Amino acid sequence: MGGRAAMEKRETGSNSAQSPVFGTVKDVVARYCRCENCSAYLHFSHVTDFVRNLTREIARCPECGTEARQVTHRLQ
Ligand SMILES: [Zn+2]
Repeated sequence: MGGRAAMEKRETGSNSAQSPVFGTVKDVVARYCRCENCSAYLHFSHVTDFVRNLTREIARCPECGTEARQVTHRLQ
């Protein structure tokens, strides 16, 4: 059954080559982790509110002290 395995591998390769990619995941992550003012790397901290079942994500810049983002996630 060695020939069958080779055929499956070739089909998967052609599929991934056809799909267009606009901006890589790495670019998005790099932008998200940087301060908008001084582009220093942000320090993230998570605060979990067990009463409301929410998690707040606070991003604070260690260089200029800007609190960049507060994202609230609902726990499931
Ligand atoms: Zn900053």
